Amino acid sequence: MKERFQKVAEALKNNNIECIYAEKKDDIPDIVKGLVEKGATVSCGGSVSLSECGVMELLKSGYYNFLDRSAEGLSREDITEIYRKTFSADAFFTSANAVTENGELINVDGNGNRVAAITYGPDRVIVIVGANKIVSDVAEGVKRVKTVAAPKNAERLNINTPCRTLGHCICVEGTLAEGCKNDARMCAFYSVTGRQRNKDRIKLILCADNLGY
Ligand code: SF4
Repeated sequence: MKERFQKVAEALKNNNIECIYAEKKDDIPDIVKGLVEKGATVSCGGSVSLSECGVMELLKSGYYNFLDRSAEGLSREDITEIYRKTFSADAFFTSANAVTENGELINVDGNGNRVAAITYGPDRVIVIVGANKIVSDVAEGVKRVKTVAAPKNAERLNINTPCRTLGHCICVEGTLAEGCKNDARMCAFYSVTGRQRNKDRIKLILCADNLGY
């Protein structure tokens, strides 16, 4: 596994994405504090990984000026405003749905706000990924989304998609556009970050523990 981590880290570096290794998930909040200064304006995408490693708790603790879209009492308009403000945040926190051995990030989104912020806007993007999300290539990453991430997220968010019932996607294998046609579809936008032209804008914390799904 160590060799695989090194391979991924080297490939990310070649794509201008700095990779920081975390031996344990509990190490991650302190790594984050070393990357993003106290008081910075930050935002995040929806992510089980951020909660499992304690970063969500850090974001909500007052250490940062957190644009919190899950705060109580927000209207739909308030949340949209937070999505827009996220583009000028100092840092954006997210996980990825998969990371390839070629140093590519694969992300899939329903609203598009998360893949948009990863791609452009916030000064820095901190991606937190567990060992369970390393895949050999983009095709394996897409398969992972359709058979692991989407069904589990549908269950977590109580969204009625075919993959929730079946445990896998109804798409024809090898296609992205084919699939369920209802508005609840959570894999509307597919993004592959092949290279970050703004060097080290994206930093990835790669953890030896499994995180999220
Ligand atoms: S297209 Fe529909 S069934 Fe397939 S993974 Fe996405 S939400 Fe699930």
